[in-house]
Amino acid sequence: MAIFRSSLFNGKELTKLLKLPLRRFVGVSIAGFPESCSLNSSHRPYSSDAPSESHLLYTADHFALRASLRKIIDKEINPFVDKWEEEGQFPAHQVFKTLGKAGFLGIDKPTEYGGLNLDFSYITAVAEELGWIRCGAIPMAVGVQSSMATPALARFGSDELKKEFLAPTIAGDMVACLGVSELGAGSDAANIKTKAVRKGDDYVINGGKMWITNGFQADWMCLLANTNDGLPNKNKSLLCLPMKLPGIHVAKKIDKLGMRSSDTAEIFFENVRIPSKYLIGEEGMGFNYQMLQFQEERMWGVASSLRILELLIKETIDYTSQRKAFGQTILHNQIVHFRLAELATEVELLRALLYEAAGLYIRGNDVTKLVSMAKLKCGRLCREIPDSCLQFWGGMGYTNEVLVSRMYRDLRLVSIGGGADEIMLSVVCKYMGILPEKNKKE
Ligand SMILES: Cc1cc2nc3c(=O)[nH]c(=O)nc-3n(C[C@H](O)[C@H](O)[C@H](O)COP(=O)(O)OP(=O)(O)OC[C@H]3O[C@@H](n4cnc5c(N)ncnc54)[C@H](O)[C@@H]3O)c2cc1C
Repeated sequence: MAIFRSSLFNGKELTKLLKLPLRRFVGVSIAGFPESCSLNSSHRPYSSDAPSESHLLYTADHFALRASLRKIIDKEINPFVDKWEEEGQFPAHQVFKTLGKAGFLGIDKPTEYGGLNLDFSYITAVAEELGWIRCGAIPMAVGVQSSMATPALARFGSDELKKEFLAPTIAGDMVACLGVSELGAGSDAANIKTKAVRKGDDYVINGGKMWITNGFQADWMCLLANTNDGLPNKNKSLLCLPMKLPGIHVAKKIDKLGMRSSDTAEIFFENVRIPSKYLIGEEGMGFNYQMLQFQEERMWGVASSLRILELLIKETIDYTSQRKAFGQTILHNQIVHFRLAELATEVELLRALLYEAAGLYIRGNDVTKLVSMAKLKCGRLCREIPDSCLQFWGGMGYTNEVLVSRMYRDLRLVSIGGGADEIMLSVVCKYMGILPEKNKKE
């Protein structure tokens, strides 16, 4: 019987966790934020991409933040993406230092550790803008650093732990990775086998992790490991694991279909010792913490896909309005422009769902169902949109010269990573009360 990534998780526990101190947006000014621009937010029609007083979730501050990030992307990242993709790895320390210095790695993290203490809507704004990067690998790596490996540490970690791991991660001095998946446990995360056994004042870790993004360059891992032999949702803990310790073998850089400039590693642990103070929060709460962390990961993943999907549609419009066949532009064919309009509509629907989930999350609600729906829809669109757009590029779409072919490969991951489409469907079914009993193992 499968134990799904979220099926063991109880909504009440999530709500309880969410009641713990959570930074809220109360008209925060981001004065002092580097390069914040004064954007005129009045007298403009609603647009998801431009400052507007009538925006559902964003204020002029959100758009200023995005404009500031866009400048960094245009200057420090996009000009080098092709080279890094070809080399099979982007320089994480260099890129994260640039983003960290500008404040983008600690948007919702406490100011004591170098963060901006803004609410989750600012995370979605930043993640959306990261979709301006012309590959999937770098936004994914940034997401691991800011919204996948660090939410539990920021929320539940001790002050000492946050000083040692969170502060340098926010500053971009340390690269983080998240160690949940294993060779034998991906979708079925409750079934992980890696153990961290308490010996005196230490934990001794044995096992291995698979598919670890940033794995070759990481300085520390947010590790999910079994710390007792109890029930699968009560036997796990999250630990901060420094990556340069004896017994840690970063075994293999995985050669992948897409996300070429992201280093994805298989990692083994052999009697790795860490002090017990590296435990995040309470022992035995790791599964619950990770489920909470997954909600942020998934919202982040959806947000970071929106802009790139729109960009694919836009570049397809540009190309097909130039390219001619049978005496007219490709775009002139109704099947082409209708399809592009339909896809643009789908992106807006996804965006609306994300904003609803993010808005409710900021107010302390359990958004697992909405987030799972959004992640599912996002995975579907990340397959459908690059595929449809690529078709309209004809032979050019099949070359490595154009963004659409890279995204056809990169975005295929969205339906698999961080909880596959089928797992999202199971979670939604569970919340709808229609998941067959035999799959609901507690
Ligand atoms: C490029 C990349 C980067 C990644 N980065 C990280 C990372 O940084 N940290 C980390 O911990 N993990 C990471 N992952 C792992 C990722 O989260 C897992 O690949 C994912 O959860 C799926 O697990 P799996 O690969 O073991 O697939 P499996 O669990 O073997 O599932 C295979 C397929 O079976 C189907 N399936 C599974 N269960 C069910 C079910 N109950 N009902 C119906 N169908 C089902 C789904 O279609 C699924 O895709 C990464 C993966 C990739 C490819």
